[in-house]
Amino acid sequence: RTMPVRRALISVSDKTGVAPLARALADHGIEILSTGGTARLLRDAGVPVIEVGEYTGFPEIMAGRVKTLHPRIHGGLLGRRGEDEAVMDAQDIPPIDLLVVNLYPFEQTVARPDCMLPEAIENIDIGGPAMLRAAAKNHAGVGVVTDPAQYDRVLAAVAGTGGLDDAQRFELAVAAFNHVARYDAAISNHLSARAIDGEPTGFPGQFNATWEKAADLRYGENPHQAAAFYRDPQAVAGSFAHYHQRQGKALSYNNLADADAAWTCAGAFDAPACVIVKHANPCGVAVAADLKTAYDAAFATDPTSAFGGIIAFNRPLDEDTARAIIDRQFVEVMLAPAVSEGALAVIGRKANVRVLEIADGPVMPTGWRLQPLGGGLLVQDQDIALTGDQGLRCVTREPVDEALQADLDFVWRVAKFVKSNAIVYGREGRTLGIGAGQMSRVDSARIGVRKAEDAGLSLNGSVLASDAFFPFRDGIDQAAAAGVRAIIQPGGSMRDEEVIAAADEHGIAMLFTGMRHFRH
Ligand code: 5GP
Repeated sequence: RTMPVRRALISVSDKTGVAPLARALADHGIEILSTGGTARLLRDAGVPVIEVGEYTGFPEIMAGRVKTLHPRIHGGLLGRRGEDEAVMDAQDIPPIDLLVVNLYPFEQTVARPDCMLPEAIENIDIGGPAMLRAAAKNHAGVGVVTDPAQYDRVLAAVAGTGGLDDAQRFELAVAAFNHVARYDAAISNHLSARAIDGEPTGFPGQFNATWEKAADLRYGENPHQAAAFYRDPQAVAGSFAHYHQRQGKALSYNNLADADAAWTCAGAFDAPACVIVKHANPCGVAVAADLKTAYDAAFATDPTSAFGGIIAFNRPLDEDTARAIIDRQFVEVMLAPAVSEGALAVIGRKANVRVLEIADGPVMPTGWRLQPLGGGLLVQDQDIALTGDQGLRCVTREPVDEALQADLDFVWRVAKFVKSNAIVYGREGRTLGIGAGQMSRVDSARIGVRKAEDAGLSLNGSVLASDAFFPFRDGIDQAAAAGVRAIIQPGGSMRDEEVIAAADEHGIAMLFTGMRHFRH
């Protein structure tokens, strides 16, 4: 069923493309109603418009707070076609068949750090959402447009059939309710997190997620689980959500989760870095003067686990590095800020391999970190910092020179991205053994040693990072036996003295970071 469009109301804050739209509608003989600023713009563009104030016989008042809130407008939007005609006639309420509205820029306004409360409040649109809800509710008779990206399709339909069909009006109504829901969520989140007279502070009293569905996935973590991927519309450039797939099969749920883990870990390093992830844990990480060297070193940490891995780089992926990977191993996903045409040609030999480009990244994640519980949601800050207020503190007789400090800094950064309990052995910008996700720290330490042995790597002269403090000296004894020269860990255990004494006994240097990095 096509519902003809004879009268349209246009009231937009984002005026992109609105003049050509209105002109084309007017050319089709459609009467255009419009509010102050929009009407002025349209009239200047030579489009015949009727001002809403003139149309309702009631002026715009209170600096625009009351413009369209009038029964002649809302009746025209809400009147049931084929049912309310008598009352509409009696009250002189002509039907409005098309509504074009986008709302005051609340999100952009409050994103400015100097935005004070009165300005935020004034940017809460009242009439706009009211009209959008009315038109969207009455989608059986009314079309509702909320985004300049919809203008072309709406125009094409009006030009073709004189109106919009049922499916188009329904789709537009859903988009309108999404637009309003996101708008209200932004207001609620912002106001409930800010003090009356100051900057936004603390946690929202309400937590309204405003994710936009980006893709349906074939299945979730396992084939019997349904799944989808949603994007945060606020995600900053360079964050994982902005990935652009250059080739390969569709991404799976596990691909996405692991690729995100690899991407954020790669973002922890300034030098060219390679991170190989399996099941959300790095199984090899290295920095070097070039990506190929970094990849070789990361792969060497644990060639067995790297099979079928996700590989992220913090520099554009070049042809040599791509060839080294493709010739050597099965890989699920590769990510980089850019991928050269040469690299793409090489990877193209393996059509299934997924290649993602994420321009301007990697960046540290922003916003909240969310974890659902049964019937609830845990919300926390992102784990951005590296060390506590006091910075790094050497607690042993054995000092830490510059080279050692660089080694320790590297393994400490890696440990942040390894699931707890995390123990990372490394040297000269490369991991040598990673123990992840164990319930006891000593087990993680042992696993790291065994992995190094399996890979034929020596831990003699290596350094070790532990994501949380050593509760006992046994971890230190075990590290010494493995040949570790220096340790970096948060400190703060009741038995720190015993742990430091053990390090001194073995001639091991130890840095306290004053900050732990659990990751679950
Ligand atoms: P204009 O630039 O045309 O003067 O204003 C357009 C904006 O006004 C749109 O974003 C629309 O949502 C909003 N708007 C329309 N009617 C009303 C109303 O009655 N009250 C308020 N506060 N905003 C309105």
